[in-house]
Amino acid sequence: MGLVGLAAWAGGLLVAAPGRLLGAGAVLLLVVLLLMWGALVTTRALRRGRRRSWTSLPAWRTTALACLLAMLAVLVAGLVRADRVAGDPVASLASEGAAVTGRLVVSTDPRPMAGARSDGVFLRAVVVEVSGRGTTWQVRSPVLVLAPASWADVRLGSTVALAGRLQPTEEGERSLAAMLSVHGEPVVLEQPGAWWRATEVLRASLRAAVAHRPAPERVLVPALVAGDDAGLDPRVAEEFRATGLTHLLAVSGTNLTLLLGALLVLARLVGVRGRGLLVLGLAGVVGFVLLARTEPSVLRAAVMGVVGLLALTHGGGRAVRGLGVAVTVLLLVDPTLATAPGFALSVLATGGIVLLGPRWRDALARWLPRWLAEAIAVPTAAQLACTPVVAALSGQVSLVAVVANLLAAPAVGPATVLGLLGGCVGLVWPWAGRLLGTVATWCVGWIVEVAHRGAGLPTAAVDWSTSGAALVALTALTVVLAWRGPRLVSTRARGAASCVVLVVAVLVRPPVPGWPPDGWVLVACDVGQGDALVLATTPGHAVVVDVGPEPGAVGRCLDDLGVSTVDLLVLTHFHADHVDGLSAVLGSHGVGEVWVSRVLDPADGARSVLADAAAAGVPLHPAPYAGAWRSGATRLQVLWPTPGEPGTGPGDGTAANDASVVLLVEVAGLRLLLTGDLEPPGQAALARTLPDLAVDVLKVPHHGSSYQDLGWLTGLGARVAVVTVGEDNDYGHPAPSVVAALESAGARVLRTDTDGSVAVVAGEAGPSVLTTR
Ligand SMILES: [Zn+2]
Repeated sequence: MGLVGLAAWAGGLLVAAPGRLLGAGAVLLLVVLLLMWGALVTTRALRRGRRRSWTSLPAWRTTALACLLAMLAVLVAGLVRADRVAGDPVASLASEGAAVTGRLVVSTDPRPMAGARSDGVFLRAVVVEVSGRGTTWQVRSPVLVLAPASWADVRLGSTVALAGRLQPTEEGERSLAAMLSVHGEPVVLEQPGAWWRATEVLRASLRAAVAHRPAPERVLVPALVAGDDAGLDPRVAEEFRATGLTHLLAVSGTNLTLLLGALLVLARLVGVRGRGLLVLGLAGVVGFVLLARTEPSVLRAAVMGVVGLLALTHGGGRAVRGLGVAVTVLLLVDPTLATAPGFALSVLATGGIVLLGPRWRDALARWLPRWLAEAIAVPTAAQLACTPVVAALSGQVSLVAVVANLLAAPAVGPATVLGLLGGCVGLVWPWAGRLLGTVATWCVGWIVEVAHRGAGLPTAAVDWSTSGAALVALTALTVVLAWRGPRLVSTRARGAASCVVLVVAVLVRPPVPGWPPDGWVLVACDVGQGDALVLATTPGHAVVVDVGPEPGAVGRCLDDLGVSTVDLLVLTHFHADHVDGLSAVLGSHGVGEVWVSRVLDPADGARSVLADAAAAGVPLHPAPYAGAWRSGATRLQVLWPTPGEPGTGPGDGTAANDASVVLLVEVAGLRLLLTGDLEPPGQAALARTLPDLAVDVLKVPHHGSSYQDLGWLTGLGARVAVVTVGEDNDYGHPAPSVVAALESAGARVLRTDTDGSVAVVAGEAGPSVLTTR
């Protein structure tokens, strides 16, 4: 049955893969050929068999036939679906960008839009009626709705009148028929049904039970129980990502397995047995789906959660069959899942728990109590099974994820169950709900601590090539570890040795040979899409300019450079890609002083920087215009912003960028210009005040965006230009035109996305560079 699931998946891949590997005609031909082969095999087997019944077929033939049928069924389902999408009037109206009216049913809670356009909300909905080009259609087309802020209070499940413009979805987006931009106040035609209102009350009670506790715990409890992560601090989310704990924030099969497990333990305690347990378990699943919303990811989690539960209660064989059935059914319902990363991870994690979990548990149980063996085996098995796919998606392998999941796992069950109980009990006795909620937030506090500590470790994630050979090697390594691993932990002595190896691997980061080079004066750290620059001053000391989008990367960069004290920290402006790594620098390095931009925009970013500096007791000032600062042989001067610059702008981030602190650094005979995200108006103003500015090294403004005063940039005469930019960023940075212009002006252009961290070394003949890649 496990094989049948795989076959079904193969069918889904055939039809749903990007670019559709096969056209409809070829698929039909394949279907006919496979059916003929199947019929031939069956009839021959039947003829040979004495009795004319299915049971006389050899086992492998039954399996092969079942596989074939599953694959064909998913193939056909995929074709039917693709056909329906192609004929969907909403999709065809969208391809013309048509203005439409009609009705839609809201299927997710409205969420504020992230980023600069923060005055609107987005939500998913199903269009049930659409009018455009003089015709009206009754449809059921899922769309993504972009709406004004007045839609923030529209409730899930309600039917709303729509008036707006349809647009095509992004390439490769198959779960949506179109994007819909609506305007005006929402007109609610029908309120949500009683079930939705009831779950809304429960969700509100859940939030109320933990409302008196500090963030992020009070946000994380509803996220764990019902996938309700509205208002989660992006830094905490990033720490969870870095430590492989993100699956806890979304509704996942693991959460449901834990909830159901606890429910069944309680039921057994009060004497429920046999069929009663099954009914109770199913009721639990239905309640969970209603509570966490019938989004596709929730339904998927529900199915996987049930399979996981089967593995815990009935052991491997039945659970493998269950997983095969689950995969086949899910793919029949939605063949596009075959190429969805979330689906692959969810199936692999469940498969890992089902296939590897028992072996690891039994090995550990030889010398550990069974409950502890299980608590270690389940997350280890899930992590191992997911490792190759996670590496393919992120280009990283994380040992810390294994350890973090091991440490967090014991707290997940109690936090989820207590949070849910708190919500239920709080409906009747709010004080008792708060009491339970408080204990739930203690458990969550432990998980937050694990994520926070884990994200700061030197080897939080190791880069892994996503080339085919590298991934095959990693898969082979994982398979060997998965099968031989249980032997490595089957005795107390071996277990202890494995522990030591793991701890050393997590805590000790292998040095990069030759890094940092002797005589480095500037290092642009590879922190992804964002800035983090380090200027050498005296041994162990440095000036840091910006701290990147997350603490882990800048922390590792400073550790590699041997920087223990940051005499001066300059934050050029308050965008997340420049300030969100702050805790890594404030937390573990002595910081003398912080200089910031005078424009406190965006307000959230500025507020949290001011709060963090105050909490760390570090003095913070606006960067003094024309102010100079000296340490060792390094001298720096603030060139921008001038005191008269306006502090407000169009509010789309331009004003904040243009108020970036610009520094001229002089060290070892080199002149370096560090420009933050300075935009053309600021660049032009700088050109007016300092017409003769010439430098050796340029930090290219705004990650190499195409929006530059190219005449000024190329006129600086830099021989080395460094672009701080993340791989595959969504902004198209750096612009090829900017790179080309700098190169033709005689600069050597280095990029942190392809070169890794970049060190500039002062030499006899000017600047030279060394990179980590
Ligand atoms: Zn930036």
